[in-house]
Amino acid sequence: MKILNKNYINGSWVDWNGDMADVHEAATGDVIARVPMSDPGQMELAIAAAHAAFEVWSESSVEQRVNVLGQLHAGLKQRAPEIAEAVSREVGMPLKLATAIQAGLPATVTKTYTDMLPEFPFVEQSGNSEVQYAPVGVVGCITPWNYPLHQIILKVVPAIAAGCTVVLKPSEIAPQAAFILADILDETDLPAGVFNMVCGAGQTVGETLIRHPDVRMLSFTGSTRTGHAIAHAAADDFKRIALEMGGKSASVVLSDADLEAAVKGTVSNCLLNSGQTCTALTRLLVPADRHDEACKLAAAAAARMTPGNPLDEATRLGPLASAQQRDRAVDYIRLGVAEGATLVAGGPDAPEGLDKGYFVQATVFGNVDPNSTIAQEEIFGPVLCVIPYNDEAEALRIANGTAYGLSGAVWSADREKAKAFAAKLRTGQVTVNGGGFNPLAPFGGFGHSGIGREFGKWGLEEFLEVRSLQL
Ligand code: NAD
Repeated sequence: MKILNKNYINGSWVDWNGDMADVHEAATGDVIARVPMSDPGQMELAIAAAHAAFEVWSESSVEQRVNVLGQLHAGLKQRAPEIAEAVSREVGMPLKLATAIQAGLPATVTKTYTDMLPEFPFVEQSGNSEVQYAPVGVVGCITPWNYPLHQIILKVVPAIAAGCTVVLKPSEIAPQAAFILADILDETDLPAGVFNMVCGAGQTVGETLIRHPDVRMLSFTGSTRTGHAIAHAAADDFKRIALEMGGKSASVVLSDADLEAAVKGTVSNCLLNSGQTCTALTRLLVPADRHDEACKLAAAAAARMTPGNPLDEATRLGPLASAQQRDRAVDYIRLGVAEGATLVAGGPDAPEGLDKGYFVQATVFGNVDPNSTIAQEEIFGPVLCVIPYNDEAEALRIANGTAYGLSGAVWSADREKAKAFAAKLRTGQVTVNGGGFNPLAPFGGFGHSGIGREFGKWGLEEFLEVRSLQL
């Protein structure tokens, strides 16, 4: 077991001797690490350090920033196996996938910023004005557990690239990668106080961070409920906010689409990370006359997702990250049955032989009423809702018929037709016929899914204020 009884404040590890939280292995429930449940005093120290360091780092050159982020990139690559294993154990993602996504993607994203920075126009001309882009100030970063390092990197890297200083409060459920990140940054040339990390509960240190007057921006990823609390706190003090929250994304199969490819693509997207993905395509919309065929294909695809320990090579579906998350998903599955949806695959019982740990069966519901709870609320578990529609107008109404708007997919034999449909979706990103993930494309939500964008130049601009000099 790892005892991580320290916070990273002002360029040093600071011992913590107070309350600690257990970190559990998703596949067994065993305690694998312990981390601080810090008090507000630790957070105050971290904010003071970030506030003091802003004066220096906001004046740093692009070369200095590129140098530090290059060192970070090298460190992330070097420690990738350790990161992948820690996250795989905490969150439940199969190790091979965790190596590519949980450890690999953070390094890739860091590199996009080292590549972008030298070309980024921090100064522009507009008529007789010089427009300058200035770092916003101290940024509070609050992150969840499902892609724990990735979500941290999407905030910390562009914030540092912009010249901001940072206080990170990682998730207490999957915190180990954040400690590795702090270790790596400690070895770089980053001045003391630019990056700080305090581990603890949202209700204590999180609250201190979101209410502190010296914090000028809050960048948050997590649930819509917490996003709401953060938006309120920010409004009291006119802090800038970037919020990335939940989703209930629709995968719309148009009548001319290759149904088999569409269903396979949707199921594997929905079940990625056991459904603990904010962009998961959790609603599969199919023409009513192909509904039964789609359900059969979805059940077959779900059956191929062998459940098991994420560290076993044969595993394609790991457990959920916590007992609470498992119970939540199981409750939704029971509710789906009670609401009258047809259980096509899976169900509320744990997969056979996997009674320890936080496992949930890959579950497919057919004939789901688009207004039912399981079709409206984010489950964050391995549950797909198949919803029949009668014409494209109805498909569009259903797709846009939730409070969310994070992601979506459209499938059609005719790409232009798919693009035209995609343009009507009230959502931040749409995958057309299974188009590949792009770390340079803007990522964020409409509606209750969020405010602001991450990745690429859009992710950097979030951390910049605009100043115009009239000359
Ligand atoms: P959560 O909102 O419970 O917690 C997220 C973070 O906020 C944690 O670090 C938590 O400690 C902190 N927090 C909680 N209450 C707080 C408060 N009052 N003040 C300050 N900080 C507080 O979410 P979670 O359970 O960790 O993550 C799962 C949720 O995150 C899902 O709903 C999922 O959709 C969403 N999510 C969204 C995205 C995205 O990019 N849109 C990505 C990943 C996860």
